[in-house]
Amino acid sequence: MTGEPGTMEERLADVRRRLALACAARGRAEDEVLVVAVAKGFGPEAVEAAIRAGLRVIGENRVQEAREKIAVCPSSARWHMVGRLQTNKAREAAALFEMIHSVDSTRLLDALSRAMELEGGTKDVLLQVNVAGDSAKAGFSPGDALPAVRAACGMPHIRVRGLMTVPPFTPDPEGARRHFAALRELRDRLAGETGADMPELSMGMSNDYEVAVQEGATMVRLGTALFGARSGGNSWRRRIDAD
Ligand SMILES: *Cc1c(COP(=O)(O)O)cnc(C)c1O
Repeated sequence: MTGEPGTMEERLADVRRRLALACAARGRAEDEVLVVAVAKGFGPEAVEAAIRAGLRVIGENRVQEAREKIAVCPSSARWHMVGRLQTNKAREAAALFEMIHSVDSTRLLDALSRAMELEGGTKDVLLQVNVAGDSAKAGFSPGDALPAVRAACGMPHIRVRGLMTVPPFTPDPEGARRHFAALRELRDRLAGETGADMPELSMGMSNDYEVAVQEGATMVRLGTALFGARSGGNSWRRRIDAD
């Protein structure tokens, strides 16, 4: 996919306009949807431009890349981990990120729980669910999500706030609709069975966020739509790939 033209302000205005339309189509309020600006591959200047444009939450998919940017970016930014997280990086991730969207195993839940016992306080997490059964994607199977929510409910330092998914890419965003609907239905069922308060649905990326919002997304994770294309000459620190 090619990047959107224009400045960060122009791209964000376009995103906000589309979000407003998607919300209006379902009688939802615009402020029910948080934009997570996924800055992977872009440097601190891009993050600063995003913050100047009014974005508050920055998403990253690698701990090391995030660590380097967090050190130099305005402290007003809040950082969310959206990418695959190795258990041995749980402690650092718990320290760096306000929320972890991509908890995909009970081992990782355990590691985050232990990290927060040492760190103090509680960490907000989302459970990533592979609703499409896509063998290339991380996440709990829908059937494993219930025991995972139950396990998390027994961890005093972990707060499960909802679910996240990354459906298989389809050129037509309508192809993702049933996966977004499935995530919402699974969340409703899990909340009903466990009594857990799970308001958040992190779903929708640049290609399909309008469909995701129509299906109930409360967080959309947008990279390309805000920052432009990652491939090409603008990739920051390409050498960080061993993380
Ligand atoms: C890169 C990434 C995004 C953003 O992707 P775009 O298509 O550029 O919007 C969202 N979520 C996750 C987990 C990602 O890795």
